[in-house]
Amino acid sequence: MDGPMTREVKPMLQVYNTLTRRKEPFPKQPGETVTMYVCGPTVYKPSHIGHMVGPVIFDTVKRYLTYLGFSVRWVVNITDVDDKLIARSAELGTTVPALAQRMTEDYFECLKQLNVTGVDAFPRATEHIGGMIRMIGHLIAKGYAYPAGGSVWFDVSKDEDYGKLCNRDPEQMAEGGRIEPNPHKRNPGDFALWKGAKPGEPPEVTWESPWGPGRPGWHIECSVMSTTLLGETIDIHGGGLDLKFPHHENELAQSESATGKTFARIWMHNGLLKLRSKEGKEDKMAGSIGNVLNVADALKHVSGEVLRFFILNTHYTSPIDLGVWDREKDPIPTSIEAARKAYATFERLAERYQRITGTAFHELKAPTRASTDYPPPLRDFQQRFRHHMDDDFNTGGATAVLFELASFLNRTADTGKLESAQDLDSPEGQVFRQGAMLLKELGQILGLFWSAPASLALGADGQLVGGLMQLLIDLRNNLRAEAKKIPGKDDPAKKALFAQTDLIRQRLAELGIVLEDRPTGTTWRRA
Ligand SMILES: [Zn+2]
Repeated sequence: MDGPMTREVKPMLQVYNTLTRRKEPFPKQPGETVTMYVCGPTVYKPSHIGHMVGPVIFDTVKRYLTYLGFSVRWVVNITDVDDKLIARSAELGTTVPALAQRMTEDYFECLKQLNVTGVDAFPRATEHIGGMIRMIGHLIAKGYAYPAGGSVWFDVSKDEDYGKLCNRDPEQMAEGGRIEPNPHKRNPGDFALWKGAKPGEPPEVTWESPWGPGRPGWHIECSVMSTTLLGETIDIHGGGLDLKFPHHENELAQSESATGKTFARIWMHNGLLKLRSKEGKEDKMAGSIGNVLNVADALKHVSGEVLRFFILNTHYTSPIDLGVWDREKDPIPTSIEAARKAYATFERLAERYQRITGTAFHELKAPTRASTDYPPPLRDFQQRFRHHMDDDFNTGGATAVLFELASFLNRTADTGKLESAQDLDSPEGQVFRQGAMLLKELGQILGLFWSAPASLALGADGQLVGGLMQLLIDLRNNLRAEAKKIPGKDDPAKKALFAQTDLIRQRLAELGIVLEDRPTGTTWRRA
Protein backbone atom coordinates (compact mmCIF):
# COMPACT_ATOMS: atom_id res chain seq x y z
CA MET A 1 0.00 0.00 0.00
CA ASP A 2 1.18 3.54 -0.71
CA GLY A 3 0.38 4.81 2.77
CA PRO A 4 2.41 7.51 4.50
CA MET A 5 5.34 6.51 6.70
CA THR A 6 4.45 5.17 10.10
CA ARG A 7 5.94 6.88 13.10
CA GLU A 8 5.16 6.47 16.76
CA VAL A 9 3.65 9.48 18.49
CA LYS A 10 3.30 9.25 22.24
CA PRO A 11 -0.12 10.61 23.19
CA MET A 12 0.21 13.37 25.73
CA LEU A 13 -2.59 15.85 26.16
CA GLN A 14 -1.52 19.45 26.69
CA VAL A 15 -4.06 22.19 27.37
CA TYR A 16 -3.56 25.96 27.35
CA ASN A 17 -4.58 27.37 30.75
CA THR A 18 -5.56 31.05 30.74
CA LEU A 19 -4.77 31.22 34.45
CA THR A 20 -1.10 30.23 34.06
CA ARG A 21 -0.81 31.52 30.49
CA ARG A 22 0.87 28.37 29.23
CA LYS A 23 0.17 24.90 27.92
CA GLU A 24 0.10 22.35 30.72
CA PRO A 25 -0.11 18.56 30.89
CA PHE A 26 -3.74 17.58 31.47
CA PRO A 27 -4.08 17.12 35.27
CA LYS A 28 -5.95 13.80 35.27
CA GLN A 29 -5.46 10.21 34.14
CA PRO A 30 -7.72 8.19 31.82
CA GLY A 31 -10.35 6.36 33.87
CA GLU A 32 -10.86 9.36 36.15
CA THR A 33 -13.86 11.68 36.03
CA VAL A 34 -13.38 15.13 34.54
CA THR A 35 -15.76 17.93 35.53
CA MET A 36 -16.38 20.76 33.07
CA TYR A 37 -18.47 23.91 33.42
CA VAL A 38 -19.12 26.22 30.45
CA CYS A 39 -20.99 29.50 30.70
CA GLY A 40 -24.19 29.28 28.71
CA PRO A 41 -26.47 31.85 27.09
CA THR A 42 -28.64 34.62 28.45
CA VAL A 43 -31.85 33.54 26.77
CA TYR A 44 -33.42 36.75 25.46
CA LYS A 45 -32.98 36.38 21.66
CA PRO A 46 -32.52 33.55 19.13
CA SER A 47 -29.04 32.00 18.94
CA HIS A 48 -26.72 33.26 16.23
CA ILE A 49 -23.68 31.47 14.85
CA GLY A 50 -21.43 33.04 17.47
CA HIS A 51 -23.42 31.41 20.26
CA MET A 52 -22.59 27.98 18.84
CA VAL A 53 -18.81 28.37 18.88
CA GLY A 54 -18.37 27.51 22.58
CA PRO A 55 -20.85 24.60 22.61
CA VAL A 56 -19.28 23.01 19.52
CA ILE A 57 -15.76 23.38 20.87
CA PHE A 58 -16.45 22.05 24.35
CA ASP A 59 -18.61 19.25 22.96
CA THR A 60 -15.54 18.28 20.94
CA VAL A 61 -13.33 18.56 24.04
CA LYS A 62 -15.66 16.15 25.83
CA ARG A 63 -15.72 13.76 22.87
CA TYR A 64 -11.92 13.66 22.73
CA LEU A 65 -11.52 13.21 26.48
CA THR A 66 -14.06 10.39 26.30
CA TYR A 67 -12.08 8.87 23.42
CA LEU A 68 -8.97 8.92 25.64
CA GLY A 69 -10.83 7.06 28.38
CA PHE A 70 -11.91 9.87 30.72
CA SER A 71 -15.43 10.04 31.97
CA VAL A 72 -16.62 13.61 31.57
CA ARG A 73 -19.46 15.38 33.37
CA TRP A 74 -20.36 18.66 31.61
CA VAL A 75 -22.67 21.42 32.81
CA VAL A 76 -23.88 24.46 30.82
CA ASN A 77 -26.00 27.04 32.63
CA ILE A 78 -28.96 28.98 31.30
CA THR A 79 -29.19 32.59 32.50
CA ASP A 80 -32.94 33.10 32.60
CA VAL A 81 -33.04 36.30 34.68
CA ASP A 82 -31.12 39.39 33.60
CA ASP A 83 -31.52 43.08 32.65
CA LYS A 84 -31.60 42.16 28.95
CA LEU A 85 -34.41 39.66 29.52
CA ILE A 86 -36.42 42.23 31.47
CA ALA A 87 -35.99 44.88 28.75
CA ARG A 88 -36.70 42.51 25.85
CA SER A 89 -39.79 40.91 27.41
CA ALA A 90 -41.23 44.41 28.05
CA GLU A 91 -40.60 45.30 24.37
CA LEU A 92 -42.36 42.14 23.23
CA GLY A 93 -45.21 42.49 25.74
CA THR A 94 -44.50 39.08 27.26
CA THR A 95 -43.17 37.86 30.63
CA VAL A 96 -39.55 37.08 31.46
CA PRO A 97 -40.27 33.36 32.09
CA ALA A 98 -42.22 33.03 28.82
CA LEU A 99 -39.46 34.70 26.78
CA ALA A 100 -36.76 32.69 28.56
CA GLN A 101 -38.61 29.44 27.88
CA ARG A 102 -39.02 30.20 24.18
CA MET A 103 -35.39 31.24 23.68
CA THR A 104 -34.12 28.25 25.70
CA GLU A 105 -36.02 25.97 23.33
CA ASP A 106 -34.46 27.78 20.35
CA TYR A 107 -31.00 27.28 21.91
CA PHE A 108 -31.61 23.56 22.48
CA GLU A 109 -32.80 23.13 18.89
CA CYS A 110 -29.62 24.84 17.60
CA LEU A 111 -27.45 22.56 19.74
CA LYS A 112 -29.27 19.54 18.33
CA GLN A 113 -28.78 20.74 14.74
CA LEU A 114 -25.03 21.07 15.37
CA ASN A 115 -24.82 17.67 17.07
CA VAL A 116 -23.87 19.11 20.47
CA THR A 117 -24.99 16.12 22.48
CA GLY A 118 -22.58 15.98 25.43
CA VAL A 119 -24.13 18.37 27.96
CA ASP A 120 -25.20 16.45 31.08
CA ALA A 121 -27.14 19.23 32.80
CA PHE A 122 -28.55 22.65 31.90
CA PRO A 123 -29.28 24.30 35.26
CA ARG A 124 -31.38 27.47 35.10
CA ALA A 125 -30.34 30.36 37.31
CA THR A 126 -33.87 30.78 38.71
CA GLU A 127 -33.74 27.19 40.05
CA HIS A 128 -30.74 28.04 42.27
CA ILE A 129 -31.72 31.34 43.94
CA GLY A 130 -31.62 29.70 47.42
CA GLY A 131 -28.03 28.55 46.89
CA MET A 132 -27.02 32.01 45.69
CA ILE A 133 -28.51 33.66 48.81
CA ARG A 134 -26.57 31.14 50.94
CA MET A 135 -23.24 31.81 49.19
CA ILE A 136 -23.73 35.58 49.44
CA GLY A 137 -24.49 35.25 53.19
CA HIS A 138 -21.35 33.17 53.59
CA LEU A 139 -19.22 35.79 51.76
CA ILE A 140 -20.62 38.55 54.03
CA ALA A 141 -19.87 36.44 57.14
CA LYS A 142 -16.26 35.92 55.97
CA GLY A 143 -15.83 39.67 55.37
CA TYR A 144 -15.56 39.49 51.56
CA ALA A 145 -18.87 41.21 50.90
CA TYR A 146 -21.04 43.96 52.33
CA PRO A 147 -24.69 44.98 51.97
CA ALA A 148 -25.33 48.62 50.98
CA GLY A 149 -28.35 50.41 49.56
CA GLY A 150 -30.48 47.27 49.17
CA SER A 151 -27.75 45.44 47.19
CA VAL A 152 -24.78 43.32 48.25
CA TRP A 153 -21.29 44.05 46.89
CA PHE A 154 -18.13 41.99 46.66
CA ASP A 155 -15.19 43.91 48.14
CA VAL A 156 -12.31 43.37 45.68
CA SER A 157 -9.80 44.91 48.12
CA LYS A 158 -10.38 41.98 50.55
CA ASP A 159 -9.45 39.38 47.96
CA GLU A 160 -5.66 39.31 47.79
CA ASP A 161 -5.33 37.62 44.42
CA TYR A 162 -8.20 39.42 42.69
CA GLY A 163 -7.18 39.95 39.04
CA LYS A 164 -5.08 36.79 38.74
CA LEU A 165 -7.04 35.37 35.81
CA CYS A 166 -6.65 38.53 33.71
CA ASN A 167 -3.22 39.26 35.17
CA ARG A 168 -4.21 42.80 36.09
CA ASP A 169 -4.63 44.66 39.37
CA PRO A 170 -8.05 45.98 40.45
CA GLU A 171 -7.25 49.62 39.57
CA GLN A 172 -6.29 48.70 36.01
CA MET A 173 -9.48 46.71 35.71
CA ALA A 174 -11.60 49.56 37.04
CA GLU A 175 -10.08 51.71 34.30
CA GLY A 176 -11.26 49.14 31.77
CA GLY A 177 -14.43 51.20 31.65
CA ARG A 178 -16.89 48.34 31.95
CA ILE A 179 -17.59 48.99 35.61
CA GLU A 180 -20.80 50.71 36.58
CA PRO A 181 -20.40 53.59 39.05
CA ASN A 182 -22.50 53.35 42.21
CA PRO A 183 -22.42 55.59 45.31
CA HIS A 184 -22.74 52.56 47.63
CA LYS A 185 -19.53 50.87 46.49
CA ARG A 186 -16.38 50.99 48.65
CA ASN A 187 -14.01 50.46 45.69
CA PRO A 188 -14.66 51.23 42.01
CA GLY A 189 -14.02 47.57 41.12
CA ASP A 190 -16.58 46.15 43.57
CA PHE A 191 -19.36 44.24 41.83
CA ALA A 192 -22.92 43.26 42.75
CA LEU A 193 -23.67 39.86 44.25
CA TRP A 194 -27.28 40.81 44.89
CA LYS A 195 -29.13 43.56 43.05
CA GLY A 196 -31.86 45.31 45.01
CA ALA A 197 -35.19 45.43 43.15
CA LYS A 198 -35.79 48.64 41.22
CA PRO A 199 -39.21 50.28 41.06
CA GLY A 200 -41.29 49.02 38.15
CA GLU A 201 -39.48 45.67 37.78
CA PRO A 202 -41.91 42.77 37.29
CA PRO A 203 -42.58 40.56 40.36
CA GLU A 204 -41.41 37.38 38.57
CA VAL A 205 -37.80 38.65 38.64
CA THR A 206 -37.83 39.57 42.34
CA TRP A 207 -36.99 37.26 45.26
CA GLU A 208 -36.97 37.92 49.01
CA SER A 209 -33.56 37.91 50.72
CA PRO A 210 -32.03 38.95 54.08
CA TRP A 211 -30.97 42.20 52.30
CA GLY A 212 -34.37 43.02 50.87
CA PRO A 213 -36.15 42.04 47.64
CA GLY A 214 -34.02 41.71 44.53
CA ARG A 215 -32.25 39.23 42.26
CA PRO A 216 -28.79 37.73 42.01
CA GLY A 217 -25.92 39.28 40.03
CA TRP A 218 -24.85 37.37 36.93
CA HIS A 219 -21.45 36.21 38.24
CA ILE A 220 -22.76 34.57 41.43
CA GLU A 221 -25.14 32.45 39.35
CA CYS A 222 -22.26 30.53 37.77
CA SER A 223 -20.30 30.17 41.03
CA VAL A 224 -23.32 28.55 42.67
CA MET A 225 -24.46 26.33 39.81
CA SER A 226 -20.91 25.12 39.22
CA THR A 227 -20.17 24.27 42.88
CA THR A 228 -23.66 22.80 43.44
CA LEU A 229 -23.58 20.47 40.45
CA LEU A 230 -19.87 19.71 40.05
CA GLY A 231 -18.27 20.37 43.46
CA GLU A 232 -16.04 23.11 44.88
CA THR A 233 -13.13 22.39 42.52
CA ILE A 234 -13.78 21.66 38.86
CA ASP A 235 -11.28 20.52 36.26
CA ILE A 236 -12.19 22.73 33.29
CA HIS A 237 -13.97 26.06 33.25
CA GLY A 238 -14.77 27.21 29.73
CA GLY A 239 -16.32 30.16 27.97
CA GLY A 240 -15.81 32.78 25.31
CA LEU A 241 -12.87 35.16 25.49
CA ASP A 242 -15.29 38.04 26.09
CA LEU A 243 -16.23 36.46 29.44
CA LYS A 244 -12.71 36.48 30.87
CA PHE A 245 -13.30 39.88 32.42
CA PRO A 246 -15.29 40.72 34.39
CA HIS A 247 -17.41 37.57 34.46
CA HIS A 248 -14.81 34.85 35.01
CA GLU A 249 -12.51 36.96 37.16
CA ASN A 250 -15.48 37.64 39.44
CA GLU A 251 -16.74 34.06 39.42
CA LEU A 252 -13.28 32.94 40.47
CA ALA A 253 -13.00 35.58 43.22
CA GLN A 254 -16.39 34.72 44.75
CA SER A 255 -15.97 30.96 44.57
CA GLU A 256 -12.44 30.82 46.02
CA SER A 257 -13.28 33.37 48.73
CA ALA A 258 -16.34 31.34 49.72
CA THR A 259 -14.76 27.87 49.69
CA GLY A 260 -11.05 28.57 50.29
CA LYS A 261 -10.31 26.08 47.51
CA THR A 262 -9.14 26.25 43.90
CA PHE A 263 -12.26 26.91 41.81
CA ALA A 264 -11.06 25.59 38.42
CA ARG A 265 -7.83 23.75 37.55
CA ILE A 266 -7.91 24.84 33.91
CA TRP A 267 -9.51 27.91 32.36
CA MET A 268 -10.16 27.53 28.64
CA HIS A 269 -11.26 30.49 26.54
CA ASN A 270 -12.50 30.20 22.98
CA GLY A 271 -11.96 32.92 20.38
CA LEU A 272 -14.94 34.85 19.06
CA LEU A 273 -16.43 35.29 15.62
CA LYS A 274 -15.16 38.22 13.68
CA LEU A 275 -16.36 39.54 10.36
CA ARG A 276 -15.80 42.48 8.09
CA SER A 277 -18.30 44.69 6.33
CA LYS A 278 -17.93 45.15 2.57
CA GLU A 279 -16.18 48.44 3.37
CA GLY A 280 -13.55 46.35 5.16
CA LYS A 281 -14.43 47.45 8.68
CA GLU A 282 -13.98 44.79 11.34
CA ASP A 283 -17.19 44.11 13.25
CA LYS A 284 -18.57 41.78 15.81
CA MET A 285 -21.85 40.06 15.17
CA ALA A 286 -24.45 42.27 16.81
CA GLY A 287 -28.08 43.17 16.35
CA SER A 288 -27.19 46.86 16.54
CA ILE A 289 -25.01 46.53 13.39
CA GLY A 290 -27.56 44.36 11.60
CA ASN A 291 -25.11 41.61 10.66
CA VAL A 292 -26.48 38.79 12.80
CA LEU A 293 -26.64 35.36 11.20
CA ASN A 294 -29.08 33.31 13.22
CA VAL A 295 -28.45 29.57 13.28
CA ALA A 296 -31.96 28.89 11.99
CA ASP A 297 -31.33 31.11 8.92
CA ALA A 298 -27.90 29.61 8.22
CA LEU A 299 -29.44 26.13 8.30
CA LYS A 300 -31.63 27.07 5.33
CA HIS A 301 -28.46 27.17 3.22
CA VAL A 302 -26.02 24.70 4.78
CA SER A 303 -26.32 21.62 6.97
CA GLY A 304 -25.61 21.60 10.70
CA GLU A 305 -22.65 19.36 9.89
CA VAL A 306 -21.11 22.02 7.66
CA LEU A 307 -21.60 24.70 10.33
CA ARG A 308 -19.93 22.49 12.91
CA PHE A 309 -17.07 21.73 10.51
CA PHE A 310 -16.69 25.45 9.79
CA ILE A 311 -16.34 26.26 13.52
CA LEU A 312 -13.80 23.47 14.08
CA ASN A 313 -11.61 24.50 11.14
CA THR A 314 -9.99 27.15 13.32
CA HIS A 315 -8.03 26.47 16.49
CA TYR A 316 -10.37 27.30 19.35
CA THR A 317 -8.16 29.98 20.92
CA SER A 318 -8.09 32.02 17.67
CA PRO A 319 -10.92 34.20 16.41
CA ILE A 320 -13.11 32.55 13.79
CA ASP A 321 -12.92 34.76 10.72
CA LEU A 322 -16.19 34.92 8.82
CA GLY A 323 -14.51 37.22 6.28
CA VAL A 324 -16.42 39.81 4.34
CA TRP A 325 -20.14 39.41 4.35
CA ASP A 326 -22.27 41.45 2.00
CA ARG A 327 -25.61 40.19 3.16
CA GLU A 328 -27.52 41.91 0.35
CA LYS A 329 -25.64 39.74 -2.11
CA ASP A 330 -24.93 36.52 -0.21
CA PRO A 331 -27.36 34.70 2.09
CA ILE A 332 -24.40 33.32 4.05
CA PRO A 333 -20.80 34.54 4.38
CA THR A 334 -18.49 33.25 1.65
CA SER A 335 -16.29 31.58 4.30
CA ILE A 336 -19.18 29.29 5.26
CA GLU A 337 -19.90 28.67 1.58
CA ALA A 338 -16.23 27.68 1.16
CA ALA A 339 -16.55 25.28 4.11
CA ARG A 340 -19.60 23.73 2.45
CA LYS A 341 -17.63 23.14 -0.75
CA ALA A 342 -14.68 21.66 1.13
CA TYR A 343 -16.96 19.40 3.15
CA ALA A 344 -18.37 17.98 -0.09
CA THR A 345 -15.15 15.89 -0.26
CA PHE A 346 -16.47 13.82 2.65
CA GLU A 347 -19.98 13.69 1.22
CA ARG A 348 -18.69 12.37 -2.10
CA LEU A 349 -16.67 9.75 -0.25
CA ALA A 350 -19.76 8.78 1.77
CA GLU A 351 -21.68 8.38 -1.50
CA ARG A 352 -18.89 6.27 -2.93
CA TYR A 353 -18.76 4.16 0.24
CA GLN A 354 -22.49 3.53 -0.07
CA ARG A 355 -22.24 2.62 -3.77
CA ILE A 356 -19.46 0.14 -3.05
CA THR A 357 -20.65 -1.43 0.21
CA GLY A 358 -24.42 -0.95 -0.10
CA THR A 359 -24.49 0.46 3.45
CA ALA A 360 -24.62 4.05 4.71
CA PHE A 361 -21.36 5.61 5.90
CA HIS A 362 -23.04 7.76 8.57
CA GLU A 363 -24.59 4.64 10.09
CA LEU A 364 -21.24 2.89 10.59
CA LYS A 365 -20.86 1.92 14.25
CA ALA A 366 -17.35 3.15 15.02
CA PRO A 367 -15.84 2.99 18.54
CA THR A 368 -16.14 6.13 20.69
CA ARG A 369 -13.02 5.17 22.67
CA ALA A 370 -9.56 4.51 21.31
CA SER A 371 -9.55 0.72 21.11
CA THR A 372 -8.97 -0.58 17.60
CA ASP A 373 -5.46 -1.42 16.50
CA TYR A 374 -5.27 -0.32 12.87
CA PRO A 375 -2.69 -1.67 10.43
CA PRO A 376 0.29 0.61 9.64
CA PRO A 377 -0.90 2.78 6.75
CA LEU A 378 -4.04 3.67 8.72
CA ARG A 379 -2.41 3.81 12.15
CA ASP A 380 -0.34 6.75 10.97
CA PHE A 381 -3.47 8.81 10.24
CA GLN A 382 -4.87 7.92 13.65
CA GLN A 383 -1.63 8.93 15.40
CA ARG A 384 -1.31 12.21 13.57
CA PHE A 385 -4.95 13.04 14.31
CA ARG A 386 -4.35 12.34 18.02
CA HIS A 387 -1.11 14.30 17.95
CA HIS A 388 -3.04 17.39 16.81
CA MET A 389 -5.81 16.87 19.36
CA ASP A 390 -3.25 16.31 22.13
CA ASP A 391 -1.82 19.70 21.24
CA ASP A 392 -4.48 21.79 22.99
CA PHE A 393 -7.33 20.32 20.91
CA ASN A 394 -6.00 21.53 17.56
CA THR A 395 -9.12 20.68 15.59
CA GLY A 396 -7.86 22.56 12.51
CA GLY A 397 -4.88 20.20 12.24
CA ALA A 398 -7.14 17.24 12.97
CA THR A 399 -9.55 18.07 10.12
CA ALA A 400 -6.57 18.33 7.75
CA VAL A 401 -5.72 14.71 8.63
CA LEU A 402 -9.32 13.71 7.85
CA PHE A 403 -8.95 15.20 4.35
CA GLU A 404 -5.71 13.26 3.82
CA LEU A 405 -7.40 10.06 4.99
CA ALA A 406 -10.32 10.71 2.63
CA SER A 407 -8.03 11.08 -0.38
CA PHE A 408 -6.08 7.98 0.70
CA LEU A 409 -9.39 6.05 0.70
CA ASN A 410 -10.31 7.41 -2.74
CA ARG A 411 -6.91 6.34 -4.08
CA THR A 412 -7.38 2.91 -2.51
CA ALA A 413 -10.78 2.54 -4.18
CA ASP A 414 -9.28 3.66 -7.52
CA THR A 415 -6.31 1.27 -7.40
CA GLY A 416 -8.44 -1.63 -6.22
CA LYS A 417 -11.15 -0.80 -8.81
CA LEU A 418 -13.69 -1.14 -6.02
CA GLU A 419 -17.21 -1.05 -7.47
CA SER A 420 -19.38 -3.32 -5.35
CA ALA A 421 -19.47 -5.38 -2.15
CA GLN A 422 -17.86 -8.30 -4.03
CA ASP A 423 -14.65 -6.29 -4.34
CA LEU A 424 -14.28 -5.79 -0.59
CA ASP A 425 -12.38 -9.06 -0.03
CA SER A 426 -9.40 -7.86 -2.06
CA PRO A 427 -6.46 -6.33 -0.11
CA GLU A 428 -7.55 -2.84 -1.24
CA GLY A 429 -11.14 -3.66 -0.32
CA GLN A 430 -10.10 -4.54 3.22
CA VAL A 431 -8.03 -1.40 3.64
CA PHE A 432 -10.93 0.63 2.23
CA ARG A 433 -13.35 -0.90 4.73
CA GLN A 434 -11.04 -0.47 7.74
CA GLY A 435 -10.04 3.01 6.63
CA ALA A 436 -13.68 4.07 6.35
CA MET A 437 -14.20 2.80 9.90
CA LEU A 438 -11.21 4.87 11.06
CA LEU A 439 -12.50 7.95 9.24
CA LYS A 440 -15.84 7.53 11.02
CA GLU A 441 -14.08 6.95 14.36
CA LEU A 442 -11.98 10.11 14.06
CA GLY A 443 -14.75 12.18 12.48
CA GLN A 444 -17.12 11.49 15.30
CA ILE A 445 -14.57 12.81 17.82
CA LEU A 446 -15.17 16.12 16.03
CA GLY A 447 -18.90 15.39 16.04
CA LEU A 448 -18.99 14.99 12.23
CA PHE A 449 -20.47 12.40 9.88
CA TRP A 450 -23.68 11.88 11.81
CA SER A 451 -26.11 12.58 9.00
CA ALA A 452 -26.54 11.37 5.44
CA PRO A 453 -25.21 13.66 2.68
CA ALA A 454 -28.06 15.61 1.10
CA SER A 455 -27.77 13.48 -2.03
CA LEU A 456 -28.43 10.32 -0.04
CA ALA A 457 -31.00 11.75 2.36
CA LEU A 458 -33.83 11.06 -0.02
CA GLY A 459 -35.74 8.39 1.82
CA ALA A 460 -36.05 4.79 0.65
CA ASP A 461 -35.09 5.64 -2.94
CA GLY A 462 -32.06 7.64 -1.89
CA GLN A 463 -29.53 5.14 -3.13
CA LEU A 464 -31.31 4.78 -6.46
CA VAL A 465 -31.53 8.57 -6.91
CA GLY A 466 -27.85 8.91 -5.94
CA GLY A 467 -26.94 6.24 -8.50
CA LEU A 468 -29.04 7.83 -11.27
CA MET A 469 -27.53 11.23 -10.55
CA GLN A 470 -24.04 9.75 -10.80
CA LEU A 471 -25.03 8.16 -14.12
CA LEU A 472 -26.14 11.57 -15.49
CA ILE A 473 -22.98 13.25 -14.22
CA ASP A 474 -20.80 10.56 -15.81
CA LEU A 475 -22.66 10.83 -19.16
CA ARG A 476 -22.35 14.61 -19.13
CA ASN A 477 -18.65 14.43 -18.32
CA ASN A 478 -18.12 11.96 -21.20
CA LEU A 479 -19.91 14.34 -23.59
CA ARG A 480 -17.76 17.22 -22.42
CA ALA A 481 -14.59 15.18 -22.80
CA GLU A 482 -15.60 14.25 -26.36
CA ALA A 483 -16.39 17.88 -27.18
CA LYS A 484 -13.03 19.07 -25.88
CA LYS A 485 -11.23 16.63 -28.20
CA ILE A 486 -12.65 18.47 -31.24
CA PRO A 487 -10.35 21.35 -32.26
CA GLY A 488 -11.62 24.84 -32.99
CA LYS A 489 -14.56 26.72 -31.58
CA ASP A 490 -17.17 26.60 -34.33
CA ASP A 491 -17.23 22.94 -35.28
CA PRO A 492 -20.91 21.92 -35.51
CA ALA A 493 -20.26 18.52 -33.88
CA LYS A 494 -18.55 20.22 -30.94
CA LYS A 495 -21.45 22.64 -30.56
CA ALA A 496 -23.94 19.78 -30.63
CA LEU A 497 -22.11 17.96 -27.83
CA PHE A 498 -22.01 21.05 -25.64
CA ALA A 499 -25.71 21.63 -26.36
CA GLN A 500 -26.36 18.18 -24.87
CA THR A 501 -24.36 18.94 -21.71
CA ASP A 502 -26.20 22.26 -21.32
CA LEU A 503 -29.51 20.47 -21.75
CA ILE A 504 -28.66 18.06 -18.92
CA ARG A 505 -27.75 20.94 -16.62
CA GLN A 506 -30.85 22.91 -17.58
CA ARG A 507 -33.31 20.03 -17.19
CA LEU A 508 -31.83 19.17 -13.77
CA ALA A 509 -32.13 22.82 -12.74
CA GLU A 510 -35.83 22.64 -13.62
CA LEU A 511 -36.05 19.74 -11.17
CA GLY A 512 -34.38 21.84 -8.48
CA ILE A 513 -30.94 20.19 -8.75
CA VAL A 514 -27.72 22.17 -9.13
CA LEU A 515 -24.57 20.71 -10.68
CA GLU A 516 -21.22 22.05 -9.49
CA ASP A 517 -18.11 21.52 -11.59
CA ARG A 518 -14.81 21.64 -9.77
CA PRO A 519 -11.26 20.48 -10.49
CA THR A 520 -11.88 17.49 -8.21
CA GLY A 521 -15.06 16.45 -10.02
CA THR A 522 -18.72 17.25 -10.36
CA THR A 523 -21.15 17.18 -7.45
CA TRP A 524 -24.84 17.89 -7.19
CA ARG A 525 -27.14 19.32 -4.59
CA ARG A 526 -30.69 20.44 -4.19
CA ALA A 527 -31.14 24.17 -4.93
ZN1 LIG B 1 -20.50 32.03 33.90
